[in-house]
Amino acid sequence: MQLLMVEDDIPLATGLKKALQAQGFAVNHLDTGKAALHVIGVEKPDMVILDLGLPDMDGLDVLRAIRRKHVQLPVLLLTARDSVEDKVAGLDCGADDYLAKPFDMVELLARLRVMERRMSRIQTTAINLGNVSLDTVEQRVTLDGQEVELPRREYMLLKSLMENAGRVQTRAVLESRLYSWGEEVSSNALEVHVHHLRKKFGNDFIRTIRGVGYKVGASQE
Ligand code: CA
Repeated sequence: MQLLMVEDDIPLATGLKKALQAQGFAVNHLDTGKAALHVIGVEKPDMVILDLGLPDMDGLDVLRAIRRKHVQLPVLLLTARDSVEDKVAGLDCGADDYLAKPFDMVELLARLRVMERRMSRIQTTAINLGNVSLDTVEQRVTLDGQEVELPRREYMLLKSLMENAGRVQTRAVLESRLYSWGEEVSSNALEVHVHHLRKKFGNDFIRTIRGVGYKVGASQE
């Protein structure tokens, strides 16, 4: 799950980033609206946390610009202004949720989980591949009907692969789903996760495409 956080309050952003990373999110942080729109145009994140009071643009204009291209990208607004009018304006512009500062980390995490579930429901529920089934709503994986507990990063990796069954996922794409920019990632971190998944689901479940990446399922080409 790659989360883009657009927030110009650096101490707040730093604290949030740490807390969210501890929950297994890959968090990328930007402090201007223009940079956010650029990045979203190049590499769409899975979810966006957007501060309304940015130095270069009104957050609502950033949100409108996001919505013109990405109707379903989940966006949670953060704001220092806690009035009904602001909330309505945010939701009218297409925000999925709205949180007034100051807020509890627990509250933010709960809202993100709701957005994550809603997003999964729009996309898919269960993805089945051979004897492996992954439910993106329940965030549950089964092998021959038996539940397999996975650490969050292994789950996210398996989900990325299964959502794209039959297509090769490059190392760069997979890593961007699992890690934040600039996060210290050892060069074999992805291999280690793949290794663990293979131990759980069988060596042949994930295939290595030498020099490119990984894939599951039969080729669609
Ligand atoms: Ca601000």
